[in-house]
Amino acid sequence: MQQRESGERTVHVVAADPSASACPVCGVFSTSVRQHRTTRPKDLPYGEAPLEVRWRTAQYRCREPRCPRKAFTESIAELPPGARVTGRLRRFAAAAVGDGGSVARTAQRLPLSWPTVHRAFVCYADSVLTEPAPPAVLGTDETRRGRPRWTRTEAGGWERRERFETNFVDLAGDAGPLGQTAGRTGAAVVRWLDARREGCKDPSGWSRGVVRRQLRFRTPLRMKHLN
Ligand SMILES: [Zn+2]
Repeated sequence: MQQRESGERTVHVVAADPSASACPVCGVFSTSVRQHRTTRPKDLPYGEAPLEVRWRTAQYRCREPRCPRKAFTESIAELPPGARVTGRLRRFAAAAVGDGGSVARTAQRLPLSWPTVHRAFVCYADSVLTEPAPPAVLGTDETRRGRPRWTRTEAGGWERRERFETNFVDLAGDAGPLGQTAGRTGAAVVRWLDARREGCKDPSGWSRGVVRRQLRFRTPLRMKHLN
């Protein structure tokens, strides 16, 4: 470990896991090093001063004649090839958001960007959440976001960005918010329902007329009307 006068520390690490030198395709261990590279993976903060990790990784040749892979870079489960953030930092960020912290605040506290924290949380949420049971009554509500914004179209004109979104909730049960989609038209609602129906066992389609009629009167959608 090196420490600069400013207190910043640099830790040089090497892989202690012998499987890091096994070819990911054929599994044969290699001792033939082609070159070394130094990566700077982001890791959990430790102590008061900034801590930088440098990992000197080896790129190996695969000597197995029947293996299609000619070379590979050593990797460990916590840092798969191409990863720039350790698994434990990713899990820590996801848990911080799961405990009620905002993505922005978590990204401020950790050496991570907003999109990285958000991706870590989505990945964690996907692994623990299960699909809720179909609601008996689907409630919809619309939300308007911010000021009107205009974006350039490919043809060079201007287009107003969608300001409304429709939110879906389980009105009669306790599943809470089920999702959201851009826009507030009947077509937007049908698109969202169609996307949810993909992979569903029931082949019958939504009755689009019923959806539109219910939305016109802003009444909750009773799911028995929909198929
Ligand atoms: Zn191989």
